[in-house]
Amino acid sequence: MRIPAKGRRPDEILADLEARKAADLPWRDGRTWAYVYDPGAEAEDLIHRAYALYLGENGLDPTVFPSALALENDVVGMARDHLRGDERTVGSFTSGGTESLILAVKTARDWAREHRPGVRRPEVLLPETGHAAFHKAAHYLDVGIRTVPVDPRTFRADPAATRAAIGANTVLLVGSAVSYAHGVVDPIRELGEIALERGLLLHVDACMGGFLLPYFRRLGVAVPDFELHVPGVTSISMDLHKYAFAAKGASVLLHRDAALRRHQIYACADWSGYTVVNPTIQSTKSVGPVAAAWAVLHHFGDEGYLAIARSVLEATRRIRRGIGAIPGLRVLGDPEMNLVAFASDDVDVFHLVDAMRDRGWYVQPQLSRGPSPANVHLSVNPASVRHVDALLADLEDAVRGLRESPPADASAALRAALAGVDPGRRPGPGEVAGLLAAAGASGSSLPGHMAPIHQALDALPVGFREALLVEYANELFRPTGD
Ligand SMILES: *Cc1c(COP(=O)(O)O)cnc(C)c1O
Repeated sequence: MRIPAKGRRPDEILADLEARKAADLPWRDGRTWAYVYDPGAEAEDLIHRAYALYLGENGLDPTVFPSALALENDVVGMARDHLRGDERTVGSFTSGGTESLILAVKTARDWAREHRPGVRRPEVLLPETGHAAFHKAAHYLDVGIRTVPVDPRTFRADPAATRAAIGANTVLLVGSAVSYAHGVVDPIRELGEIALERGLLLHVDACMGGFLLPYFRRLGVAVPDFELHVPGVTSISMDLHKYAFAAKGASVLLHRDAALRRHQIYACADWSGYTVVNPTIQSTKSVGPVAAAWAVLHHFGDEGYLAIARSVLEATRRIRRGIGAIPGLRVLGDPEMNLVAFASDDVDVFHLVDAMRDRGWYVQPQLSRGPSPANVHLSVNPASVRHVDALLADLEDAVRGLRESPPADASAALRAALAGVDPGRRPGPGEVAGLLAAAGASGSSLPGHMAPIHQALDALPVGFREALLVEYANELFRPTGD
């Protein structure tokens, strides 16, 4: 596309933009069990207006936009209170879980440079269920990362294995509350003891669970302590754009104290322009996300969130019971929150995802990794609560259908193409295009049914999977022509 020669009318442009959503996931109907956190129409309207009110203010320089500073300090204060920080706790508002985790890793790296001069290349110890964003952080920051096996039955971090994996370069331990894949809380108290004993930092990735877990605990769920009051925890992250229902672009990273947070902040006076001091990765940034988060927290309030949590908890229990009652399906682990992963020993879960898609549901496939088999992930949203019975009925029907007439293995061609592949080798770009074509994908067009692609990815060694994904993305994002 080119910049049009002449400008167009706003109504026409907006209609054009609206029309472009036609093929998107229809997330407002409550039939989508991942990716979206739907707060309902009233909250959504408020969020839009609050965001728009601060869209043009620039968070780059809080000295000229004191409102940005005050809103951020309010939101961080609410997060500190929610996650049991104390008067020493400080934090920052970030654009999302990934930015919070990148900054947690940067803080640890730079802390180690000052306090652990013997460390040659700082290293993070990550349970194998830890979020991909830690790998991304290590990749971006040139920090080492070592994954530690988790308990193969509970999918929780294993303190003994963690202790055994600590090396001379280890600076940061990680625990999740909850892990995305299985929705379980790692043993943060035990990890905290190890961190204190060995003089390490400990980050709790509560991006997913930080907001909702305290409400679930108040409703009687046995949620283990994971918050900042646990001895040894030095930082914690919580996404507001998940179960606080803020507009996307909203997360908080809290540190034990300001001395630790100093390592997060970047300043530059070594150029000829304005003075730069950035606590977070972005520099020029809209204040919209902070204002929208502030607004939604005030909209629901503690009572509103507790009521949402009650309804989501009840729906999650029905889903777990329902899945447990479907022959051939089993829930993985014992999730504390509203994220449920289930596997099957007799039907192919990737075909099950497609079969559910045919019935109008979006459920998320998860590839096998470590002790976790290929499985299906469901996040239970307030907007989905009313669909629980219908979902379970379709799930049972889909499983029965797949069991009675198992689909042909459409990934056979791909598997054959991969038969001679050396697992230690990475594919080249030309080879990847051929493999994608064999799986039924070409360029940016994906087949309606994704099972062959997921099966093939699942069968590949991790490095090969990643190389394939990189090549795919490199194909997908191409400028539109004239
Ligand atoms: C969502 C999530 C993240 C990453 O957050 P983004 O907001 O998608 O960048 C990190 N950790 C966990 C446990 C998550 O669920």
